Amino acid sequence: MKDAKTKEVHKEIAIEIKKHKESHRMEHDVFYQALEEVLYSIVPLIISDEKYTIHSVVKRLTVPDRIIKFKVEWFDDQQNVHVNNGYRVQFNNTLGPYKGGLRFHPSVNEGILKFLGFEQILKNALTGLPIGGAKGGSDFDPKGKSDFEVMKFCTSFMKELHKYIGPTMDVPAGDIGVGGREIGYLFGEYKKITSKFDGVLTGKPNFFGGSLMRPQATGYGVVYFTEKMLEIEGKESLEGKVCTVSGAGNVALYTIEKLIELGAIPVSCSDSKGTIYDSRGVDLELLKDLKFNRRKSLVDYITTHPEAQYIPVSKYPKGGHAVWNFECHAAFPCATQNELTEVDAKNLVKNACISVSEGANMPSTPEAIAYFLKSDICFAPAKAANAGGVAVSNFEMSQNAAMQKWSFEKVDRKLKGTMQYICTNVSETAKEYGVEGNYVDGANIAGFKRVADAMIAEGI
Ligand code: NDP
Repeated sequence: MKDAKTKEVHKEIAIEIKKHKESHRMEHDVFYQALEEVLYSIVPLIISDEKYTIHSVVKRLTVPDRIIKFKVEWFDDQQNVHVNNGYRVQFNNTLGPYKGGLRFHPSVNEGILKFLGFEQILKNALTGLPIGGAKGGSDFDPKGKSDFEVMKFCTSFMKELHKYIGPTMDVPAGDIGVGGREIGYLFGEYKKITSKFDGVLTGKPNFFGGSLMRPQATGYGVVYFTEKMLEIEGKESLEGKVCTVSGAGNVALYTIEKLIELGAIPVSCSDSKGTIYDSRGVDLELLKDLKFNRRKSLVDYITTHPEAQYIPVSKYPKGGHAVWNFECHAAFPCATQNELTEVDAKNLVKNACISVSEGANMPSTPEAIAYFLKSDICFAPAKAANAGGVAVSNFEMSQNAAMQKWSFEKVDRKLKGTMQYICTNVSETAKEYGVEGNYVDGANIAGFKRVADAMIAEGI
């Protein structure tokens, strides 16, 4: 007869099994949703030439080359053992080595990484650079862990991952939960295991092969893209114009920096607790000090600038975000996914905003995007507008391969050229396939076409 303890353990096992089954079913939903969105928008390309059907590119491009899943065991500071899942989804390397970030977050699972990996193929293809698509990570949560615990986890993670990566094979980078600290520990362990100083990871700290300007790349890139888009669409430039920005991290603060440099007036930013609105233009040096040096909440901004407004999350409009309530010429969602809803989209259009450029990944909900596409607003999707980060990662690979270091000015010049190229290509592709002005479809078609043509050329 089973004793109480055995029954208890059985119950726990049953719960675990149920959880696995449910999450496995649900975790792939997000991938199928992304697939559906992209595949419907590339229909004009597929019907334009029968080679895409003959070579079954849709079928071939929507299945990852391989998914590597491994166990990561590590000790916490109290010597307790923990087990996490590690993943690398190597989706497609037709255009170059697999390339895409590592995400450490409890929400990470195979389905999310497949979704992000698929998007990454198209984003990387849009840059015109020789990089394939991948994504990886773990359900490990670095928040609240000591440096030592993070180091333990990263070394354990790399003990397995190093078998599958290499400078011409697969070059991971950072993403949510993986910054310079984590990349440093991962790279250190890679070197210890392989005795190679390879450009095997990007986003490295500058003193061991990181590129200058990587932190600025995504934010600056979004602004370069927007300038070009406004020029192509015959709209007024950003100079002297009020802009709203959400977020207060890397992407947001460097978007603000570039906007100020161009003579625009960014009046807002936000973090997970609230929004700052400063009608004279935000104080960037103070924001950098609060967020990069002191890791403080934005509420502290009003201690220095009491005339600015602070709106806590609890006071946000129903179904919307405070930032998108303010009048602006151009909007830059740079915080997180689903932060700009249909309510916000309606507000922006009502307030005569002329462009929305996505700095974050998936910041606008599908309903908000649908609303923008029906309106006159110029809408720059993340896949195209925030590709500056991965472009500079590719520049880091070039510098590492050549054992060289480029100047800040050189990286910036090349970044600007790349963003202008992406924007022009997306716009011209949209026009060519009968969806002029639709940068969402233009980006999907242009990215898909580059990979599909290369797949056809290389054969099966
Ligand atoms: P950070 O973690 O540096 O910054 C994110 C910022 O957004 C933080 O200030 C955070 O607040 C804030 N935030 C989080 N949730 C909310 C919310 N609900 N409302 C308002 N603000 C919120 O990330 P990054 O700046 O690097 O990245 C931002 C986005 O851009 C992500 O979607 C990322 O995937 C994407 N991205 C980043 C790239 C890069 O090169 N860094 C490249 C391409 C895409 P708090 O300070 O309170 O945590």
